[in-house]
Amino acid sequence: MSRDTRTILEETLAGKRLAADDAVALLTSPDLAAIGHAADTVTRRLHPEPWRTYNIDRNINYTNICTAVCDFCAFYRPPKHAEGYVLEREELYAKIEETVALGGDQILMQGGLHPTLSLEWYEELLRDLKQRFPQVNIHGFSPPEIYHFAKVSKRPLKEVLERLAEAGLGSLPGGGGEILVDRVRAAMTRGKVMTDDWLEVHRVWHQLGGRSTATMMYGHIETLEERVEHLERLRQVQDETGGFTAFICWSFQPDNTEMDHIPPTGPFEYLRTQAVARLYLDNFPNIQSSWVTQGREIGQLALLYGANDMGSLMIEENVVSAAGTVHHLTLDQMRSAISELGYEPRRRNVFYETFADDPAVALHASLPTTSCCGGGASTSCGSPDSAAEASQLPVISSVT
Ligand code: SF4
Repeated sequence: MSRDTRTILEETLAGKRLAADDAVALLTSPDLAAIGHAADTVTRRLHPEPWRTYNIDRNINYTNICTAVCDFCAFYRPPKHAEGYVLEREELYAKIEETVALGGDQILMQGGLHPTLSLEWYEELLRDLKQRFPQVNIHGFSPPEIYHFAKVSKRPLKEVLERLAEAGLGSLPGGGGEILVDRVRAAMTRGKVMTDDWLEVHRVWHQLGGRSTATMMYGHIETLEERVEHLERLRQVQDETGGFTAFICWSFQPDNTEMDHIPPTGPFEYLRTQAVARLYLDNFPNIQSSWVTQGREIGQLALLYGANDMGSLMIEENVVSAAGTVHHLTLDQMRSAISELGYEPRRRNVFYETFADDPAVALHASLPTTSCCGGGASTSCGSPDSAAEASQLPVISSVT
């Protein structure tokens, strides 16, 4: 191990807050095992419990119509495009009913930046869903959407969030973070929220008592310094509010996007980036593995490189799968990925409250092999050679 890497890791483990230039040094260090070991040490201090966690929910992309243009997005369709959709209520109800029947208690509801849907439309949607499914947490609307709602409705951000919470919004996902540096955002997105406003959505939500997650999509046009700046901006907001429950990072998936000339980064880079994030984000209680982009083995290894949570076992995922990622896990596979490391697998909710017994385990074990989740625009369903075909459920994870 280089002397620099050893010194930085020793100081960090002794309690010194990781500085930005030291984090960049770690991101260029070849000493992956040492960085991973340090991240795992921090994780074990934060989570001495004998379990590691997972969640069950369903991703519902209520619309793919979007006024923004993101070069990395294979999911959206511009307004008036023949393939644009807004899900009908009956389709939404059916998806949530199916989720509940499979033991899920949360939906991740996100969509494009629709040009005409009003704030009242979203309020009515939330009220309707909460009335029908009071037990289901709605983890919904990424900061770009919330910011867009405020613009379309011409209402202050605080009022928009208050009204959505009042209507039934339970928690906010961290989607649309990509890299929180305006140079990067301006180079690959048009018409989408910039860094300060993305962070402000979370800040205001936290000030209202809400909780949310934070994300990072790395491995495209950002420099390593910008990757660390992203972490720094998150750490600052968390110092102010304490409202982030978790951080998750994943590598850019180039297939079917305008940026498919960029070669994908590999598992070494993923594990190193996540481990450095664990060390840098000393005020974040949880780090989620992103097995949906990395596969089961690396997703499992991530639990030894700073993650304490396997993320969500999801019944439907459209956005990452549209960019070509098709990793699938069953509930049994996700739980065994945890238990093979010597930890007890425990289900949690979005607030990281855990449950010693997961009633979904027996339910999933009794299910026959199925072929499709009826997943709307999902490109992950029904693939004849996919793992889902041979599994009990066509479930893959997402990025919340
Ligand atoms: S990433 Fe989100 S905001 Fe960007 S084009 Fe896709 S759906 Fe729209």
